[in-house]
Amino acid sequence: LGYPYFLNGTVVSGFQVGHKLGYPTANLDVNDPCKLIPARGVYAVRVDVDNHTYGGMLNIGCRPTLNNGANRTIEVHIFDFDADIYHHPLRLTFVQRIRPERKFDSLDSLAAQLHRDAAEARALLSLSR
Ligand code: ADP
Ligand code: MG
Repeated sequence: LGYPYFLNGTVVSGFQVGHKLGYPTANLDVNDPCKLIPARGVYAVRVDVDNHTYGGMLNIGCRPTLNNGANRTIEVHIFDFDADIYHHPLRLTFVQRIRPERKFDSLDSLAAQLHRDAAEARALLSLSR
């Protein structure tokens, strides 16, 4: 991938499953309907929202563990952040791709992978913990 690459959008609501996995994700409705979207997978990103910049881990994909893989979603878990940002504008700046999309046998194994993804994304973004 060539960087810098960014996506601007608005946070929309989903099925509230992120919170259940321990990783709430702000689901993005991309502003530009013609923008080319990167391949499905997990990425370390910078997140600009409410005049602050945070680190985050982004999933682009069809959530094969959670549903039948119908619609693509773009959703980001923001590190060290806890606020309701539904309907807020948000910008994602891509830092590095972490892994391709995968289907897991259980929500537990998905959650375990999310822990590893978070550790890797934090390291790539030079965030502690
Ligand atoms: P939804 O399915 O509606 O996206 P989630 O369970 O994934 O629900 O929760 C996402 C929402 O939680 C976000 O839209 C945001 O308003 C809020 N939120 C709180 N903390 C975070 C965080 N650290 N990262 C992303 N969203 C967060
Ligand atoms: Mg979500």
